Amino acid sequence: MSENLLRLDGVSVQYGTGVTAVTALSGIDLSVDRGELVAVMGTSGSGKSTLLSVAGGLARPTSGEVIVDGQWLSQLKAKQLAVLRRRSIGFIFQDFNLIPSISAIENVALPLELDGMSRRRARPLAAEALAAVELTDRAQHYPADLSGGQQQRVAIARAVVGGKSLILADEPTGALDSMTGEVVLKMLRARVDAGAGALLVTHDSKHASWADRIVHVRDGRIAGQAQRSSAESLLVRGGQ
Ligand code: ADP
Ligand code: MG
Repeated sequence: MSENLLRLDGVSVQYGTGVTAVTALSGIDLSVDRGELVAVMGTSGSGKSTLLSVAGGLARPTSGEVIVDGQWLSQLKAKQLAVLRRRSIGFIFQDFNLIPSISAIENVALPLELDGMSRRRARPLAAEALAAVELTDRAQHYPADLSGGQQQRVAIARAVVGGKSLILADEPTGALDSMTGEVVLKMLRARVDAGAGALLVTHDSKHASWADRIVHVRDGRIAGQAQRSSAESLLVRGGQ
């Protein structure tokens, strides 16, 4: 039996204590498999970003368990968690978060080098990740010399470099025009089809149509889930 790439079991998150306490998530059960792209939709404040933070080990849940690739995050020491994050989990945010003073390929190689890999070994892996998002010819460019969509594709390459398996994307197309957003989604879909798994927060139902499953979050709970048939997504994607 194959293990889920990501599993959340009864995850709750509370911010603050006493009268000012906010329950951001309550009793979330959710799993993502390899090869699966799951879209998360919900109004502002419904808990989507909190969900991604706990799924990626950036925040610890108040109760419940998060399991990534068979590892119970609550059992890991801070250092082990940092290693798991660097090796297995890729985050993509709305504002790209690229480092402006280094080139595209250096941005992509950075997580590997931070993990102790030599530059000589990291470079070809970064080049491979850039090739997968069709940016080989922009490898030496600095972020400021790339379009928004190209910058986001660099961020995708950085999120998957070295075979990271879990991609967590928080409204990654929010700052892009819709055409460019579609290109970015297509790249994300390709990485998932190549064996990664992804949680994608989006408010755009057209973008959610790239997902295998759509999870609706309301007031910190899962309000509903819809599995998408491949025929249906093909139709919404315009038969690409
Ligand atoms: P979304 O991403 O869907 O907009 P969030 O996960 O950011 O939702 O927020 C969920 C709830 O938790 C909201 O009520 C928000 O105000 C609250 N919240 C988020 N982050 C914090 C924080 N660091 N401290 C206190 N409350 C927070
Ligand atoms: Mg958010």
